[in-house]
Parts: sequence; structure tokens; C-alpha cells
Amino acid sequence: MLWDDAGKPRHECGLCGIYHHEDAAKLAYFGLFALQHRGQESAGIAAYDGQTVRVHKAMGLVPDVFSETTLRGLPGDTAIGHVRYSTTGASNVINTQPLMVTHKGDLLTVAHNGNLVNSISLRQELEERGSIFQTTMDSEIVLHLMARNAGEELDRALSKTFTAVKGACSALMLARGKMIAVRDPDGFRPLCIGKLYSGGYIVASETCAIDLVGGYYLRDVEPGEVVIFSGGEEPRSLFPWPKQNSHFCIFEQVYFARPDSDIFGINVYSTRKRMGEILAREAKIDADFVMPFPDSGNYAAIGYSRASGIPLEMGVIRNHYVGRTFIQPTQSMRDFNVRIKLNPVRSLLQGKRVIIVEDSIIRGTTGKSRVQSLRDAGAREIHMVISCPPSRFPCYYGIDFPSSSQLIAAEKTVAEIADYIGLDSLHYLSLEGMVEATGLKKEAFCLACFDGNYPIEPDRAFHKSVLGGGTD
Ligand code: SF4
Repeated sequence: MLWDDAGKPRHECGLCGIYHHEDAAKLAYFGLFALQHRGQESAGIAAYDGQTVRVHKAMGLVPDVFSETTLRGLPGDTAIGHVRYSTTGASNVINTQPLMVTHKGDLLTVAHNGNLVNSISLRQELEERGSIFQTTMDSEIVLHLMARNAGEELDRALSKTFTAVKGACSALMLARGKMIAVRDPDGFRPLCIGKLYSGGYIVASETCAIDLVGGYYLRDVEPGEVVIFSGGEEPRSLFPWPKQNSHFCIFEQVYFARPDSDIFGINVYSTRKRMGEILAREAKIDADFVMPFPDSGNYAAIGYSRASGIPLEMGVIRNHYVGRTFIQPTQSMRDFNVRIKLNPVRSLLQGKRVIIVEDSIIRGTTGKSRVQSLRDAGAREIHMVISCPPSRFPCYYGIDFPSSSQLIAAEKTVAEIADYIGLDSLHYLSLEGMVEATGLKKEAFCLACFDGNYPIEPDRAFHKSVLGGGTD
């Protein structure tokens, strides 16, 4: 199990497709750059020039994977791109995306965000019928299903393929000379369509990618919609699934998405600020100031401060120049990993009662060392408020949460967590408060990591292979 350096679960993946633009690969590159927070392990772009598809992909961050030269090697007016953090399938170059196969002369290419919860049984079925898989990723199943349906006309092949997979599936495809965008009927992961000012379309996981490449938001790809971009015309849609309720991942609003994005039609910055305001209503604490640990909790802290009237201060300063590798400290340099990135402002904290606003606590270990650093800097009382309810259940739909045994809230009461982290008090936002902050109805969301009500249960094989053995 891998974690980011703030002890938070990792983002899943990010998608960016460009259609009908002469600089498609270059714009996809900038789109991926805006979506880098959704996956930092690998990046890739597949471009189509009307004749063939070329792919460039590698391990690493977007600016490390691509250069002017590699982008020049991706000609064409259509491109799909992917940034990845592995949630199923090992982290190695074979598992980078977009994935491409040739089948009966057609080049099929896919980039996928989400986890398929019937992937193991589908893969077994396909292997028994002769399919040979190149990777260990669930995304490859989509290509095999498309190949199985190669004899069908496109709309029917797409419908049969995507209704066969269950779980979270936002995807971009190149097939039969067309760009195709798909979102599963629950709509777990976001996917939106924008129009480029310089002509053509963009499809991206988040609206921040549309902003960067120079375009405007048109609409979301609806849950249960397949959008086909073809012939330079207006895109057309299929709805192969029966109509049902959406189950948007609320964690996108709490933590994953960029605050400058609109996700599920709601601005993330405003939602996080409202979460802080509602927290102030629910958890009244007397303190000298409110502070976030940058950058988690920044916007909820603004909301909490505004609603409570308690001033907002930046009690720790972030060093923005921490590289990915540095010389390891000696044993005597206690809490080095915390301090190198975030250093408390000693004169501000001395003798003060502070409220830390955080967006989540997953294992609690990072929170513990951060709180200790504030105590060392002289803080007299330390309270913590969290802008979501306790995370007690694992995620099956593409977020790298740990198993329940590693989630601190699954094992301990709120008082025990406060004690473990070293806090004077700890308060979580209620489930109702979190939903209220979005302005949407509770039924619109997946809330499974908080309440254990999974919109789609994984099949037995998935449970055994992926959840039983831990994700890669
Ligand atoms: S279980 Fe949690 S993290 Fe996973 S999709 Fe549902 S709300 Fe999102």
C-alpha cells in the first residue's frame, strides 16, 4: 500500500482527450499537466492522425515523460492522455496508459479512471476463451471486450462492452477512427466536456484542464452516457444502461479534486469552504486562532474561521522546493520528514490555543507527528476539526484506501483517535453536514467509505484477489 507524503490516500487517475485540433497531443499534454494531482506514477498520450495511432508513455511526472521532440512524434488532430496512480495492477511501465492493441486491422486504445469490481471474473472468463493479456490492469478488459465485439456495428459494440463491466469506469477510447468518452451509470469519477476557443473539443477529468488549455466548460459526460466524437461534427450520445441514480464519489469534493475545478457541477473551493462553515456550526471551540496544515484543509479553514469569527493564521510554513529525493537525515534529527516540508511558526504558536482544520484522517500517523511539532513549538491547546466524517470503510472504486484494519477510525473511537494523535479535542463533520455543503441530495453520492453502503458490491473473485490480497 502506498501513501502520499501527507499520509492521505492516493488519487486515482486523470484523463484528457482532445478532438479536432491540429495541436491535439500538445493540448493533451497541458491538460494532463493540470491533472497531475490525480496520478504521479506515469503519464501517456495516444494520438491519431487519420491513419494510425502513436503512443508515448513512461513512468514519471508529465514534464519528465514528454519533451518537444516526443510531442512532435505524436501527430494528428485527436489525442487521449492519461496520468496514473495504480489502484489495481502493479506500478510498472507495462501498466502505463493509454493501452493500445491491434485487432483485425483496427487500433483500439483506452485510458481508464476507476476500478472495475467484476474485473477478476471477467478476466478469467476472457482468458478461458483464449484472450492473452499484456498487463495486470483491469482497464485492459475493455479492449478485449471491444475486440470480442468487433463484428458488431460501433454503437452495439460499445454498448455490449461497457454494460459488461461493473464498477467505476470513466474512460476515453480511440476506436474505428473515433474518439469515445464513457462514464459508468453511477458516475463515480468525474468527466466533463469543454469547447476549445481555438476549435475542437476537450474531454477531461476536471474542469481545471479545460481552463489551462484555453476553453470553456460545456457539460459533464452524464452518468451512463457514451459520447462519440467523429468526422469533426457535434458529438453524439448513447445511453446503453437503464436509467438509475448517480453515485458521485463525495471524496472528490472533500479531498481529491483541485479546488479550482467544478466537479459534478459544483465548485470544489466553495464546497470545501462551506464544509468549514458547517463544521464551525457543529463544533464550537474556544481558541486563539484557526490554522490549516497547507495544503490540506486550507479552504475548510477559511470557512471555519469566517463562520466562527476566530482569526485564521498560517501556523506552519510550507517549503515548496522539497524534491522527491533528498539525503536521508541522521537518526538524531527527529521528525525530519515533517519539518523539511512544514515548519511551525514558533513565535505565533507560543502559549496559544489553536484549532487545526484537516480534510481527513486516514491512518493518523502523519497527524500525530504534525501535532507533536506544534507542541514542540509551544502551542498550549491543540484541537482538530475534520471536514468529513470518520473514514471507516475501504473504497472499491478506484481510490487507494487501506483495508479497514489500517483505517484508524475503523479501529478506534473519536476519543481514542484524539488521544493517539495527542489532541485536546477532535471533531468530525457529520455526514449530513458534509452532504449539505455540496448543495446536492444525499442520494446523489457514494458515501461508502463513511457509511459502508456500497452502491455496487464487488464480486467474490474481486474480493478474494484484490481486497483479500491488498491492492498492488
Ligand atoms: S467509497 Fe469513498 S472514496 Fe470510494 S468512491 Fe465511494 S465516496 Fe469515493
